[in-house]
Amino acid sequence: MKDYKTRVSFGSESFMIQAGAEKCSECACDLDQLHVAGCAGEECPQCAKALIGCCCECLSPYDGEKVIQGIYRQFASLESALQAAGEERCQSAVNSSYLQHAAMRYIFDNVPDTAKTEIARAFHLRFPGLVPRMQDDEGRGYYTAEQLSEALDIPLNEVNERIDAMMSASNGIAVAQGKKMRKIH
Ligand SMILES: [Zn+2]
Ligand SMILES: [Zn+2]
Repeated sequence: MKDYKTRVSFGSESFMIQAGAEKCSECACDLDQLHVAGCAGEECPQCAKALIGCCCECLSPYDGEKVIQGIYRQFASLESALQAAGEERCQSAVNSSYLQHAAMRYIFDNVPDTAKTEIARAFHLRFPGLVPRMQDDEGRGYYTAEQLSEALDIPLNEVNERIDAMMSASNGIAVAQGKKMRKIH
């Protein structure tokens, strides 16, 4: 069984020390209290870098989920989530930062049917080199799971899991799924 780490309370940091501060400058929690979940000032108990951006994934699933939800609530738009997902990258192909997890969830939760072209536009701004590989009958571009995986640096199986979950919730997203798609590259 994996050895989960305990979250570092404010004031117990070994590296991200806010000298003399009585409240966290990011989340305003008090000394010896846990940061608000998703706080950018919280230190990772494993690598001592910022917990939300490192790739340790060392918290218990319960704590990790709280952190992911805390970050999720901070996204204000699809663009901001896409930007966050593209900024942070892990060396290991199997790990993702909590920020990436939260961004991915936000992206898939917030693409309404009426805004299918929005994700294409946002992707094009963020990843100019990423060209839709499929088109539907109306000529809208669709991204494959492989392209999303590569662009967001998130494992393919995780992309597929999220797409499956989203499809069963019938939210819809501009990825190649149906038989109506045709390859254009
Ligand atoms: Zn904090
Ligand atoms: Zn870490």
